[in-house]
Amino acid sequence: MNNKKLITMGEQFGRRSWAEPWKIKMVEPIRITSPQERRDALEKAGYNTFLLHSKDVYIDLLTDSGTGAMSDRQWAGIMLGDEAYAGSRNFFHLEEAVQKYYGYRYLVPTHQGRGAEHLLSQALIKPGQYVPGNMYFTTTRLHQELAGGTFVDVIIDEAHDPPNLHPFKGNVDLDKLEALVKRVGAESIPYISLAGTVNMAGGQPVSMANVKALRALCDRYSIPIYLDATRMVENAFFIQEREEGYKDKTIAAILQEFCSFTDGAWMSAKKDNLVNIGGWLAVNDSDLFDALRNMVVIYEGLHTYGGMAGRDMEALAIGITEAVDDDHVRSRVEQVRYLGNLLTNWEIPIVKPVGGHAIFLDAKSFYPHIPQDQFPAQTLAAGLYLDSGIRGMERGIVSAGRDPKTGDHRYPALELTRLAIPRRVYTQAHMDVVAEAVKAVYDSREQTKGLKMVYEPKYLRFFQARFERAS
Ligand SMILES: *Cc1c(COP(=O)(O)O)cnc(C)c1O
Repeated sequence: MNNKKLITMGEQFGRRSWAEPWKIKMVEPIRITSPQERRDALEKAGYNTFLLHSKDVYIDLLTDSGTGAMSDRQWAGIMLGDEAYAGSRNFFHLEEAVQKYYGYRYLVPTHQGRGAEHLLSQALIKPGQYVPGNMYFTTTRLHQELAGGTFVDVIIDEAHDPPNLHPFKGNVDLDKLEALVKRVGAESIPYISLAGTVNMAGGQPVSMANVKALRALCDRYSIPIYLDATRMVENAFFIQEREEGYKDKTIAAILQEFCSFTDGAWMSAKKDNLVNIGGWLAVNDSDLFDALRNMVVIYEGLHTYGGMAGRDMEALAIGITEAVDDDHVRSRVEQVRYLGNLLTNWEIPIVKPVGGHAIFLDAKSFYPHIPQDQFPAQTLAAGLYLDSGIRGMERGIVSAGRDPKTGDHRYPALELTRLAIPRRVYTQAHMDVVAEAVKAVYDSREQTKGLKMVYEPKYLRFFQARFERAS
């Protein structure tokens, strides 16, 4: 791979402003609703932003998953869809792109990230085993649990402390991991579940030094490392920016080096890879690949499409290439930071440093008078929608779910409301509007009451739970 870094816009113009490395070719109108319309819509949705209709949303920051804008090249790729049931040429383009940029040998396509999580968890985890990881992710942990495993959090303590400015809050605490290995035995640990930028910690990165040291530790105990590569490109950006020795390397080179310390990866292509639907799983072990290929035909589709149309695979192959462009990643992260800086200037409590894909509002600091079992982060997401039709999501006690053994709520240290920024969709003016809305909600925080849950689904309850205002 060409390791020589191209000169980015930022470097060329020094301290002058940066701008998005694209211009807009097609627009989708959006409209703001009246306060009464929003009150009605929110009540109908049971105070859960997942249950709102998108037509009632003004600026949609629910998620950065599948909500990005594809490029003209990706749309051109859609027209090149080869919809053969088997051996579509688009699959081979996709395989080539994953091998080139992520460096793994074998590719299994899936319909989205959780399809890949399902296959990997079922293939590797035996009931009673432990899966250590750098903080849980909702679907990841659920698939590990459904396979009979118990997730164990081994992220560094700083990750649970919103204002802590550690540059790599996604790092694995190697002492915690080694203590677990000694306690349960290496044979009870099928793999390490490592996430590149940790979503639930606020989009926080893992350093190259940490993954290298993790590799050395795992080699001693013969434990493989599998990477949740969903936002690994953003992780590469933070390494380039913050870690000694990486300033002059390209995002692509950093991504490949990081992946080389792992045994395989799964991907929600709806994030970094710039498509609206899709996913993949890639591994180096040929026996594991065989097992996965046997399973993919049961749950996803044939091993050369895995639930995606040929055209989707072509757009994905092109998206992978565009995703590692240095200017693209820089403008992506800088836009998130722009919003973060506006909020910080108004002393609104957010997770710091600002991560790669979203702003996380610290709902515990927003509403110290609302106890955690009255759902402060859910309350804040509802408040923001009522103020201005902006949709975020809860990342706190509702998302954490219940302990499968005791049946009690899990009480996470982080009680956050996430404003995720879709890739290549909104402008700086939208970010200004969002910041002003958050400020308005912050200024009226003392009068706000919490919520009570009136309907609770068994799995991933945050998607469909319903609430009412607590009295
Ligand atoms: C979105 C996401 C997943 C799950 O992927 P889907 O495509 O939504 O099924 C897994 N891990 C992380 C970190 C994610 O953000």
